Amino acid sequence: MPLTPDQKAEIEALRASPRPTLRAVSEGMEAHLYRAHEVLDHGFIRVIDYMGDDAAIVQAARVSYGAGTKHVQNDEGLIRYLMRHWHSTPFEMCEIKLHVKLPIFVARQWIRHRTANVNEYSARYSIMDREFYIPQPEHLAAQSTVNNQGRGAVLEGAEAARVLEMLKSDASRSYDNYEAMLSQDGQQGLARELARMNLPANIYTQWYWKVDLHNLFHFLRLRADPHAQYEIRVYAEAIAKVVADWLPIAFGAFEDYRMGGVTLSAKAIDVLKRRLAGEVVTQEQSGMSKGEWREFEGIWR
Ligand SMILES: Cc1cc2nc3c(=O)[nH]c(=O)nc-3n(C[C@H](O)[C@H](O)[C@H](O)COP(=O)(O)OP(=O)(O)OC[C@H]3O[C@@H](n4cnc5c(N)ncnc54)[C@H](O)[C@@H]3O)c2cc1C
Repeated sequence: MPLTPDQKAEIEALRASPRPTLRAVSEGMEAHLYRAHEVLDHGFIRVIDYMGDDAAIVQAARVSYGAGTKHVQNDEGLIRYLMRHWHSTPFEMCEIKLHVKLPIFVARQWIRHRTANVNEYSARYSIMDREFYIPQPEHLAAQSTVNNQGRGAVLEGAEAARVLEMLKSDASRSYDNYEAMLSQDGQQGLARELARMNLPANIYTQWYWKVDLHNLFHFLRLRADPHAQYEIRVYAEAIAKVVADWLPIAFGAFEDYRMGGVTLSAKAIDVLKRRLAGEVVTQEQSGMSKGEWREFEGIWR
């Protein structure tokens, strides 16, 4: 269950009691506040709080540039200029605090992003819920034959059914044993902090995750990318949709320059120049490795 009845009631109560504020407010973000966006089979993201709007980025930039920004036509032009020139600190003036429910193996990837503040559910203090990520059949795929860090063809028929059954029964048996090991009536039992080591990595955990916009963009750039693992990508995509409503101008610049843009090496620029001049350039003549060449050619497809 993505949200417990208690969590749903809390969200309704919070949304039912709006308060006037003098702080900067993003109308797009107000619509998201507290609401859960479901991700995977039991997960979600929901905005707990945020700070700033597009104007906050512009306001901070004008402090550093002063009258120098007057030549910039409008706020959008300034934000795009900042993004284009990697002037990143004005983006750090906006922050977001999310409540995220996610499988532990996804959390392992997520926590590598060190430039955020995290507070996680304690499995020393509380008993974990019996909730496991079980992939939809279309996401049960074999190891990729071309990418060591990826998946290839989707499993089918009896093999898919067998794998699915193993995932379900292993999770279920681990949890049964976890419960049976815990300290409870009639037995001394094992402490929660020890019993949890028997749980599989697809069990769900929850945390509060607070990050500034600059570092959030970095996270989204890596994790909303098609090369990121599907199970973390869907979280990044859900967050990206929220950010698009929160800061339409900054997100537009991010989509254009970071998500949609590419960085070209000096060798790649040289090839491009030669091609534009009519020369036919092969990988061997480019000075690029086969991998670099494949990625370079992939840009234009
Ligand atoms: C497709 C993909 C595959 C990956 N594969 C692996 C893998 O096989 N094994 C593995 O271990 N990880 C892997 N990672 C994780 C990756 O190496 C990074 O740890 C992760 O993406 C977080 O990035 P980050 O450090 O830039 O982010 P953050 O921790 O948020 O840091 C943001 C930026 O702050 C700076 N910074 C933060 N902390 C420090 C510091 N202590 N010292 C210097 N600069 C700092 C850096 O400039 C950094 O880029 C993978 C990530 C992706 C997206």
